[in-house]
Formats: sequence, C-alpha cells, structure tokens
Amino acid sequence: MEIEIQLTNGPISEKISPPAQLDSAGAWLEFRGVVRDSENGGKISALEYEAYPEMAEREIRRLLEEISKKNPCLGAKVIHRVGIIPVGETAVYVGVSSQHRAEAIAFLGEFMDRLKQDVPIWKRRALPLAAANVNLRTSDFTDSHRRLQKVLPLDEAVSEIQSHCKLLPPVRVSLGAAFGRVLRETVFAAEDSPPFDCSTRDGFAVLQNDSAEIFQVVDTIHAADWKPRELKSGEAVRIATGAPSPYENLRVIMQENVERNGDRIKILKHENALNIRKRGEDVKVGQPLMQTGARLDAGKLALLVTAGCAQPLVSPRLRVAHFTTGDEIVPPEQSPNPGQIRDSNSILIRGLLANSNCELVQEHLPEDFEAAKKLIETFTFESSAFNLILVSGGASVGEKDFTRSLLEWLGFEIIFSQVNVRPGRPLIFGVNESSIAFGLPGNPLSHFVCFHLFVTTALAKLIGTEPKRFLSGQLAKKLNDAPCPRETLWPARLDAVGLHPLAWASSGDITCLTETNALVRIPANHGSIDAGTEVEFLTT
Ligand code: AMP
Ligand code: MG
Repeated sequence: MEIEIQLTNGPISEKISPPAQLDSAGAWLEFRGVVRDSENGGKISALEYEAYPEMAEREIRRLLEEISKKNPCLGAKVIHRVGIIPVGETAVYVGVSSQHRAEAIAFLGEFMDRLKQDVPIWKRRALPLAAANVNLRTSDFTDSHRRLQKVLPLDEAVSEIQSHCKLLPPVRVSLGAAFGRVLRETVFAAEDSPPFDCSTRDGFAVLQNDSAEIFQVVDTIHAADWKPRELKSGEAVRIATGAPSPYENLRVIMQENVERNGDRIKILKHENALNIRKRGEDVKVGQPLMQTGARLDAGKLALLVTAGCAQPLVSPRLRVAHFTTGDEIVPPEQSPNPGQIRDSNSILIRGLLANSNCELVQEHLPEDFEAAKKLIETFTFESSAFNLILVSGGASVGEKDFTRSLLEWLGFEIIFSQVNVRPGRPLIFGVNESSIAFGLPGNPLSHFVCFHLFVTTALAKLIGTEPKRFLSGQLAKKLNDAPCPRETLWPARLDAVGLHPLAWASSGDITCLTETNALVRIPANHGSIDAGTEVEFLTT
C-alpha cells in the first residue's frame, strides 16, 4: 500500500493528484474537510488545530495500515493542516485509491471516523468572528506553531494554573471529616473558653483575701459538679482540677501545701498564684477565632470544638485520580526483570496528598494508547467525577508517550505542555468544565518537584487556601552546579543554620528525597551559588 502523509501549516492546494504510481489504478476517491462558519451555535472566523507532527504521522500511518487489512486499498494520501485555518479553507484532505469504488468508500468512511478519535491532532479553539480582521493567513500560522512548541517560564506556568483553576463550592461537615480541609468561613466563638471559672489544681478553694491559717472544709467539688455556694471567711471547699469554682474571687491552695486533719486544713506554705482559670480567659464568646482559608490541622480542630463550632463550612473532599504509565513499571512487591523498575511514584503521590483529605484512585495504564483507553473505559471512568487527574510519565514526545492524547481524549483542553524548569520540563496542564489535569514527568524527582511547584498551586486554588510562595533564606553550604538554561529547583534540607543543598545527579535520583524539605530556586544560566547567599526556596 502506498502511503503519503503531510502535516502542514500552510493552505492545502485546491487540486491534488494521486501518487504517480496510483494514477492509472481503479478508483481514486477524495474527501476534503472544510472549516465551517459556525461552532457550538456561534459564528467563527477560524479554527486552530495543534499536533505533535511525528506522533500524528505515526498514528495516521498505523490507522491506514490497520483499516487496509479489512478494506483492501492500493494507496492513500492524507494532508492535515495545523495552526489557524480560516473558515472556508481545507483542514484535512484524504485521497484513497482502491480497485473498486465500494472499497474506497468503505475505507474512507472508517478512516474519517477514526481520525478524529485516534490521532493526536487537537482542535485547540475556535476563533470568534470578532477576530476576523486579524490577518490570519500568514504570520498566525507560525505564531500558533511557535506557541505549541513554547516552553513556559516557571512563573508564567504558575499564573496560567492559577487563572484556570476555579474555587470549588464549600460543604458543611462534622469535625471528624474536616481534618486537612480548608475552612471556608470565618468562625466566631459560640462560647467562652473556659466556660466558667475553674480550678487549675487539686486543692482547697478559699476566699482570695482570707488571711486565716486554719480552715473548715465545708464541701467537695469534683470536675463534673456544678455547686455554686457562698464561702465565708475560714471556710474551704475541696476542689478538683478543672472543677467549676463555686463562688467569685476565690483562690485555690494546692493540696500539697496543706495539712489535713478531719474536716480541717492548715496552710503549710503560702503561694502567690490564684490557681484559677477565669471564664473566657482563652476565648471570649463572639470573638473571631479562625479566618477563612485556614487549613484544619489537629490544633485548629481542637480549637473549633472548644469554641462550640461542631459543623464547620469547609472545602469539599477532593477526588483525585493518579495514573501511572510505562510498560517498564512493576508494582513495589514484584522483583523487576532486566529493564523494569518499581513504581515509586504511586506511593510518592499518596504520601504527598495524605494531609489534604482527598479520595485518591490509582491505576496503572498499559503503554498503548488504545489499550489504555479501553482500560479507562472498563472502570467507567468519567473525568468529571474527578477534580484532579494526574498522569505519571509519557508526558514528552517519545514514541509511546500518549499522555497528552489521553487527556485530550478525556476532554481536556491543553493549556501548556512544557515548562522551562529542571527537573521536570515535560509538564502538561489541561482543563475542562469540571476538572483539571496534569501530565507529570515520570522520573521520581521530577514528579516530586512538579507536584510541589504546580499541583499544589492548583490544589490551593480549588480548595481556597493561599498557594505556597517562594520564601527567602541563606545557603548554609555552597551549591555546586553548572549553568543550566532552565531554572533549577534544587533539593535541599532546611534547618536552623540555613539551606543545605543535597546531592543529586539525575531526575531519577531519589536518595536525596529522604532529607529534602525545601527546593532552592536557581535562576536560568546561573551556575554555582556561594554559601551565605540569600536564595529563594519553596518548602516541601
Ligand atoms: P517518562 O516520563 O514516561 O518518559 O518516564 C521517565 C522515567 O521515569 C523513566 O525512566 C521511567 O522508567 C521513570 N518512571 C516512570 N514512571 C515511574 C514510576 N511510576 N515510578 C518510578 N519511575 C518511573
Ligand atoms: Mg514512560
């Protein structure tokens, strides 16, 4: 079978002849897909298509060969235009040659159906009619192509993520379900804490200004008792730690400082402390206690309980899917054969999300686009059921890298696919109506760095907390590095002395992660940084 495939940025000619060898063969059937003037009910001036040319060509060839096994075909010519294609111009041309017309029709029909589904050529956007006065015919072809290839600077990638992630609506939950979520209301104290004056000691309550040395014990108050009573000079009440003080202006003498004889006590040692916690001493009713955006950790939850907030309004529980890719990846418990490696990214992500109160679904996908799609279909996966989809590996342009196509197939619009950072340049970010997705590089160190740089930014926006910011700190030791054209995020250990750069040579190196709690930001083309230098860093 003769096959000719072209991906082009320029217009497709009006007249195309069959490949020379096929000129005199049976039937030559042609199809042209022309850009129509409306899309989703609105008038448009052009469509923009994007593709990874090598990958698209490979898939088109595979598809043609596969279909020819069922529908005999002598040859085919496919020309697909990418970039901005004005209304009325041809986006795709397909010519098919078969011995019989019916075979050519069947072949062409199946090819056109499968082209849209299987080939990584994406309709990126429709340009509204208002854009018609832009000169679409020349410079924009190259502009759009350039943008597709564009490697975004780190800050630009982060602000793209921030502008594309929408805050999710809050929910009211019990305290037991609130750990790790973000408070989405300002909480005011519903009660004083402590709610009454109470003793901080096991001892004897007496009037604050009573100068007697011997007291008559007239009552006993345990922690759960509520026994208001007036005390007279010379009277004492036995009282337990935390028990409500029976009367105003009392002090508590620690039991270690008295000698008891029946119902009488004698003071052995005088104390300055009153040993009383005053009502509302810690929290006053109506006081603003916690601001919206606070991440609910153990301490904050304890404070909410104390102040009477049992059903806080919080961020919803995020549903996250994390797919690993790569036929070389085996589960942790399996001994790898030559050429295989254990999957460390799954547990890495599980750990990184552990404090975020997410529901995490993890699956391994086969390294074949068709098989991966089928597997996803078997768990009736709907991207809309997840707030965040992470794909590990397959994010660059290797022969088997299909992450971008997979995300497109799941309905995501790809916003960018490369960021100028080390480690972790192939980084895909996509959005659809209800979810966001990242294609993260497979190397564990890149996976870790990209999670902290990009995924945490997206999570913060979705749940309504402040994204992590770069802080500034001092290098405790010289950081040795050769100048790199990309910005570098260097694993480091932050302690009281400063930032200690850790050793790593490749983004597959993972030993440094055992100590990493910070990433030092090294500007592009910078190289080594001396000890004592003030640097930017991100905590991890
Ligand atoms: P990729 O991003 O698919 O090109 O993968 C880059 C490197 O990361 C390859 O050496 C992979 O073997 C490795 N890798 C991919 N996925 C994982 C994983 N889940 N755990 C550990 N290493 C991985
Ligand atoms: Mg891979």
